[in-house]
Amino acid sequence: MELTFLGAAQEVGRSCIGIESDGLRLFMDAGVATNRDTPQLPLQNLKVPHAVALTHAHLDHSGFVPAIFKHSKPPVLTAFPTIPLVNMLLDDMQKILEEKGLPEYFSSTDAKQMNRSFLGLPYGKEYEFFNGSLLKLYDAGHIIGSAQIYFKSKEGSLLYSGDINSVQTQLHRPATIPREEIDYLIMESTYGDREHPDRKKLTKEFCKKVRQGLEERASVIIPCFAVGRTQEIMLILLENGLIDKTVIDGMGLRASETYLEYPSYLRNSEKFEEAFSEVGKCRGGAERKKFIKNGNVILCTAGMLDGGPALSYVQKFDAKGIATKMFLTGYQAAGSNGRMLLEKGQLKINGKIVNYIGDIEKFDFSAHSGKKELIEYAKDMSPKKIFLVHGDKDQMVALKNSLIEEGLDAKMPITGEKVVL
Ligand SMILES: [Zn+2]
Repeated sequence: MELTFLGAAQEVGRSCIGIESDGLRLFMDAGVATNRDTPQLPLQNLKVPHAVALTHAHLDHSGFVPAIFKHSKPPVLTAFPTIPLVNMLLDDMQKILEEKGLPEYFSSTDAKQMNRSFLGLPYGKEYEFFNGSLLKLYDAGHIIGSAQIYFKSKEGSLLYSGDINSVQTQLHRPATIPREEIDYLIMESTYGDREHPDRKKLTKEFCKKVRQGLEERASVIIPCFAVGRTQEIMLILLENGLIDKTVIDGMGLRASETYLEYPSYLRNSEKFEEAFSEVGKCRGGAERKKFIKNGNVILCTAGMLDGGPALSYVQKFDAKGIATKMFLTGYQAAGSNGRMLLEKGQLKINGKIVNYIGDIEKFDFSAHSGKKELIEYAKDMSPKKIFLVHGDKDQMVALKNSLIEEGLDAKMPITGEKVVL
């Protein structure tokens, strides 16, 4: 069996791993890195795959899939909810590329062909390839439809974690631990050297700050990633009696409608339906002015404030003289507007740098396992070898050392590296 790390090795973004085993060539994920001006693509030094297996919809795992269809038409095996969400995120990215005047790396014909080639799989069900190799998806607990990929051929077995969360959230059950014997584990390491704050305490603190903002007659803007974070925050606001003050706007609203279509993938779908029916909904710019008033909670994209309705809300509240507070709820990549807000209190709006005058808070509602959980997960699997991917180098080095201390064999491949097992 041979593994080729085509991206996300000692970096986050453009996840893509090639497996060649017993005549079969399989890609696990094919993503693009979107935290730079132009999307960074995975390396293309392997021949076209016979099949693609996709862990989840986030573009750093899925954004390159349509480009594969320029040269071939492989089946794309993934969990059902991933299919509409990939389409939504790709449409949005194409729109952004067009607006910025950047070249497209796939056409709408490629995307159409991709859609004809999706093969939805339930968790835990075996898929058999032409040579008898097997593939199975297991719930990864990260976003709706997120999966770990189990692969077995005559030459051995492996598990690729994708993005994983083994802690239960409002929205999702924790990741399932596969019971099969695993020879090789390919594991994400986003939080390889960090623990997350206690979720209950964090939720309490977050809701306290939201209430405080409303009592001060400010409006609270909560920038959120469309898929996953928006829905988790909706449930938290419902549980804490704040949903009737909340308005949802942008792509998170469309993503939430997809969440409603797959209730069995949620830990508590009734609660989510309740949150969705009670939250205020803004469907586009013209409706937005209705919601520019004191004491509103605005849940909107973009999570890192690069585009989306969030910036338009900042301007509109400002123009009306209504104070706002900005509560960030996720990772803010270097170079993003959100990172600049945290570091300098400034935002880039329509190409101009402006000072943001409201309070800024950041809450770590991560959908990734922290250090302790990653180590537990690896120990549970006790594979012959672990390959760390999807992490900044400092996080990976720390995790690798901790795994070695536990008696496990952990490696940090570089992008482009081929490993013969
Ligand atoms: Zn993800």
